[in-house]
Amino acid sequence: MDFSDNHSIESIFKTVSSYNATLLVVSKKRTNASIIELYDMGFRQMGENRVQDLLEKKDDLPTDIQWHIIGTLQRNKVKYIADFVHMIHSVDSMKLAKEINKQASKYNRTIPVLIQVKVAEEDSKQGINPSEVLSFIKEIIDQEFKNLEIHGIMGMASFTDNIDQIQEEFKTIHSIFKTVLQAYGPNLPHFKEISMGMSGDYELALASGSTMVRLGSILFNNL
Ligand SMILES: *Cc1c(COP(=O)(O)O)cnc(C)c1O
Repeated sequence: MDFSDNHSIESIFKTVSSYNATLLVVSKKRTNASIIELYDMGFRQMGENRVQDLLEKKDDLPTDIQWHIIGTLQRNKVKYIADFVHMIHSVDSMKLAKEINKQASKYNRTIPVLIQVKVAEEDSKQGINPSEVLSFIKEIIDQEFKNLEIHGIMGMASFTDNIDQIQEEFKTIHSIFKTVLQAYGPNLPHFKEISMGMSGDYELALASGSTMVRLGSILFNNL
């Protein structure tokens, strides 16, 4: 990594690294020029929440960027990203899982996915209800998909100033992760990621067991 004189971003990176977690740069709505600034510091994992935006940007950016989809993914968009996407964080239905498996098979590859869990209060947040995560994952295992791999879970805390509530939600995500591991660990050899934490709450997320934080504004506002 090469932060030149950017001590803010360097210290964020060091915090994330001290937990052995991955820093995913959320590049949505950012210009290619600013994305390149972060690329030049050494960041290679980038996340977009809309397929259309990703496709528009991608061809003008370095080919060794590993692209993650972090937002709600419509089934009819999977075919546009299936040949290159590095990870999909937002699997929240069986139909979507099936479609990812189908499209990945066309390219003879396996797509790593995370199961999105809904712990926040807002109705706007997507995801599987905590009480249904185990049965959902069991259903996926039973399908024996050849071209889809479950690498972990993803979650988002509520949009609130209440730190105790955010912490409780992160703990819930972490405990769901552990429950899945206990129940189906041997069936899920790649199950190791907990994608949680954004600019406002990533330190709390790391302390609660996050393995991957998704950071946008705190990085781009410090360029
Ligand atoms: C936009 C977004 C982020 C990053 O948000 P910041 O607050 O800018 O860090 C993380 N995760 C998801 C799913 C997002 O849509």
